[in-house]
Amino acid sequence: MAAHSEKICFFNGQYIPLKDANVNIQTNALQYGTACFGGMRGYWNPEKKDVYIFRLEEHYRRLASSARMLHMKMEYDQEAFAEIIRQVVRRGEWKQNIYLRPFIYKSDFDVSPKLYNLKDAFALYVFGMDDYLDTKKGLNICVSSWTRIHDSMIPTRSKATGGYVNSALAKSEAVENGFDEALFLDKDGNVSEASAMNIFIVSNGKLITPDLSSSILEGITRKTILTLAAENSIETEERKIVRSELYSADEVFFAGTGVQVAWIKNIDHRTVGNGSIGPVTEKLQSLYFKVVRGDVPQYNRWLTGMY
Ligand code: PMP
Repeated sequence: MAAHSEKICFFNGQYIPLKDANVNIQTNALQYGTACFGGMRGYWNPEKKDVYIFRLEEHYRRLASSARMLHMKMEYDQEAFAEIIRQVVRRGEWKQNIYLRPFIYKSDFDVSPKLYNLKDAFALYVFGMDDYLDTKKGLNICVSSWTRIHDSMIPTRSKATGGYVNSALAKSEAVENGFDEALFLDKDGNVSEASAMNIFIVSNGKLITPDLSSSILEGITRKTILTLAAENSIETEERKIVRSELYSADEVFFAGTGVQVAWIKNIDHRTVGNGSIGPVTEKLQSLYFKVVRGDVPQYNRWLTGMY
């Protein structure tokens, strides 16, 4: 298999090895974070010998919408986007679980932090990825000393690159203090989300997640989990969650493309529930892993095969 740097990516309209896909140091996006990105996964199904991209259409829509918020134009329609992905996966001969990173960035050399009258560019690369955080051991997390950016500061509904400095600060503080991940509160002190994932709590059998006005990214996994729960007789609610509810919840878990579904064992040194994975989390996690691999026919509508 080719070394990772030789793997094919999509850059400036061409399929070229990753090692040749470089930007100039004057690039506006590099100075100011004037870019937006997507994070997608492809799951290898060894029986079907195919890589399934999960919810390609939803990811396309969110990337295009992030771009619109940042005065950028997604130059490819959904079909062309899917074809770029297919080419990169096939040319890279990816036959394992993968993560895909499409992004649009201000590629001009203008020295002002601005969004207008600048050229945009699109690129996409892929790498192999299994777990991002451990999904089995139970995570130790903390409430961050950093506040989640509010939509009036940087649109949280977009995956704007610059906004991820907020995430990087929180994640670094958490890991340097011995935790696995950081959980943000929003500017009003309500539970928001983690550095790159949404959060769910289970209380008295009900699945609850912060609503869209809690400064969260509208996660595609969040939406998936809400659908899977509702279709499996689990009551769901989207609303404000206060900090004390975290400590009294029966179960808490993260959901996101990268993190998948990962259960939380401790929050701020307090054990969640009885310290083991709870029944609702276990059910949803196991269903999610089957769904993304193409093992539940009724949800195969969410998958796009690459081979
Ligand atoms: N919140 C943030 C800040 C994220 O970066 C992500 C990862 N994209 C998520 C939530 C989860 O979103 P999704 O399920 O669409 O990956």
